[in-house]
Amino acid sequence: DSGFPTDYEIAQDAEKEPITDVLESWDVAADDLELYGDYKAKLSHDAVNRFRDQSDEKEGNLVLVTGMTPTPMGEGKTVTTVGLGQTLNHVGEDAMIAIREPSLGPVFGVKGGAAGGGYSQVLPMEDINLHFTGDLHALTSAHNLIAAMLDAKISQSDEFDIDVNEVSWPRAMDMNERALRDIVVGLGGSSGGTPRESRFLLTAASELMAVLCLAEDLADLKERIGRIILAYTEDGDPVTVDDIDATGPAAMLLKDAIRPNLVQTIEGTPAFVHGGPFANIAHGTNSLIADKAAFGMGDYLVTEAGFGSDLGAEKFMNIVCRLGDMTPNAVVLVSTVRALKYHGMGMWPADLDEVKEAGVEELKAGFANLDKHVRNLQKFGVPVVVALNRFPDDTDEEIEAVVEHCREDLGVEIAESNVFAEGSEGGVDLANHVTDAVEENDPEDFEHLYPDDAPIKEKIETVATEIYGADGVNFTGDAEDDIERLEDLGFDDVPVCLSKTFHSLSDDPSKKGAPEGWELEVRELYPSAGAGFIVALTGDVLDMPGLPAEPAAAGMDIDADGNISGLF
Ligand code: ADP
Ligand code: MG
Repeated sequence: DSGFPTDYEIAQDAEKEPITDVLESWDVAADDLELYGDYKAKLSHDAVNRFRDQSDEKEGNLVLVTGMTPTPMGEGKTVTTVGLGQTLNHVGEDAMIAIREPSLGPVFGVKGGAAGGGYSQVLPMEDINLHFTGDLHALTSAHNLIAAMLDAKISQSDEFDIDVNEVSWPRAMDMNERALRDIVVGLGGSSGGTPRESRFLLTAASELMAVLCLAEDLADLKERIGRIILAYTEDGDPVTVDDIDATGPAAMLLKDAIRPNLVQTIEGTPAFVHGGPFANIAHGTNSLIADKAAFGMGDYLVTEAGFGSDLGAEKFMNIVCRLGDMTPNAVVLVSTVRALKYHGMGMWPADLDEVKEAGVEELKAGFANLDKHVRNLQKFGVPVVVALNRFPDDTDEEIEAVVEHCREDLGVEIAESNVFAEGSEGGVDLANHVTDAVEENDPEDFEHLYPDDAPIKEKIETVATEIYGADGVNFTGDAEDDIERLEDLGFDDVPVCLSKTFHSLSDDPSKKGAPEGWELEVRELYPSAGAGFIVALTGDVLDMPGLPAEPAAAGMDIDADGNISGLF
């Protein structure tokens, strides 16, 4: 025990101001907000539109925070996002933060919460990590309403002649529940419906979540929901949410969830915490609605994309920026001594106690992973700053080795970041590097890696070879048939969302560093017609993770006075 207070203790000690006071100087009036207690609020549709219009008239700076291939604990992207946002304000800029809403799956699983940590947290962390404003519950309900209406159609009507083997809409739940990954539904005799295999996925992996995060407003949300493909008929025609009349009620359930949530950081920086799509099956960044409002409110928007840069950042650049018409002005690549050692040791499964014991040798052996992420990000034409997120056990020698490698071998800007331990005091060097990068950046240099009208296979090959480091792509299983169907449906001129493990740059979670001499296997593709991209599945994709034998949940408690412990 280091004696350093826990995230929850720090959060409890922090002085929060009423959220209306925090937002006053950001041109948010009391009637722009719907309050959820004193410290959480949703921004009204009118205010969102007003800020969006303002954002069209000015040149806001977009800073994307991403990371190297992480250990299962995460390397501090959220901590760095929150810390950098606080520090930019501390050095005199007007900076907003936008991050995703935590999912209960990871909160209770291995990783824990997603409200940052140390002196770079969003508050109230116990609310944000638990039920917050109910968005995840609303999405779960809307998802399952659609599932129930679809199954009623299958068993009670022959209107569509749905092929029960071609039902693609699963059930959703906001919990890591391995036992529900593959299920049989419709049991219990003829009154129980038509027996068929189905599955549960985590609510964060639902297409509804992706749709919510890409929608411009309520009208656009409805259009996108209506387009979602749920199943195919015996003739192979898609059956959509519109077809089963579920668009209206599903959108109605999301009437509050679509409005972005505002909270404050420990230092009183306003932060949007809204939407939380997975960075493998979906695009992995908070809502565009929040981003657009944030651009209108501040001069800087710091946002985070999920998992390593091969997943979240690639999708942010190729999908989100394309669909949302945004241009990043700088990218911050979070790296840690522990992740470098983990790669250097080629460790799988991860044993973080063993990683702690390792030294500079192992650290240096892990540079290959960091290097690949740096080179990948540079391909988008946006300046890259490495943030070395310092942990309490890191030695000066280790820090120096990483700094020297970045400066001398890679020629990339690097700043040590101590925002976890010190808040904005520990982020000044990073913030200065970021503002310099933004200043030097020419937005004209930004480019997507592929044009969206390139053939489907070519788009996948581009990401596989340029980003993952594969030699090529094998299309196995149903992949060829799926591609043909996507082309027939007219879904070939949209971006591809590759679903891949986050434990490796490759499709094999056990391979660390920057794996070479391998080919990516794509076994299935399907349209996310509402979101507006194609999903390509590779390797083993977990859209419904499980809990370990000793999950984080087992260490959590609440006492008779309501004091929480073990939440991190
Ligand atoms: P990510 O967003 O990249 O998944 P987080 O920001 O959530 O990662 O951080 C992962 C975990 O590591 C969190 O529990 C966080 O509190 C902890 N953490 C991050 N940075 C530090 C640090 N510098 N020192 C100690 N703990 C840290
Ligand atoms: Mg995070």
